[in-house]
Amino acid sequence: MSETLRESIESVPEFLAHALELEVESVQRYQELADSMETHHNEEVAELFRQLAVFSQEHAQEVQDRVGGHELPKIPPWDFKWNCPGSPESGDCTDGEVSYLMNTRQALELALHNEGRGRDFYAHVADSSANPEVQAMAAEMAEEETEHVEMLRNWMVRADHLPEQPQDDMDPPNMPE
Ligand code: ZN
Repeated sequence: MSETLRESIESVPEFLAHALELEVESVQRYQELADSMETHHNEEVAELFRQLAVFSQEHAQEVQDRVGGHELPKIPPWDFKWNCPGSPESGDCTDGEVSYLMNTRQALELALHNEGRGRDFYAHVADSSANPEVQAMAAEMAEEETEHVEMLRNWMVRADHLPEQPQDDMDPPNMPE
């Protein structure tokens, strides 16, 4: 399991606090990436990131709705931050100014990497929590994140003709022609 989660999550508020942190971060990062792609006149990929920002926003909203008027627990050091493929310790590549300099493929890799972490987080909670309500919510989120991962993988394949393609360490998805 990744560094994303150190212990199991047993209460609904605790789960919601984590999910909210994760989704709000994703919205922000996707908006930055979309802006950056737009600046580079890559409208298609900008559109993809905007779409993913919307999905994350919808998740965040779903979570907010469940929170209602309740106060969420403060979550200690866990706070979910996007990190860089291959170097979890460095936050550099998620910096707005750095992501501005990214090419399409790097931006897609960054998104895929963190979308995968989100999926792993939800899947782990679904598997490890003893609370059926938490399990159910997490499983639903994990399923949706899996779709986002697939979307990004397909886009990576489309980006294959671009220069600066790094090592091919991902199994290729089935691309409809
Ligand atoms: Zn997602």
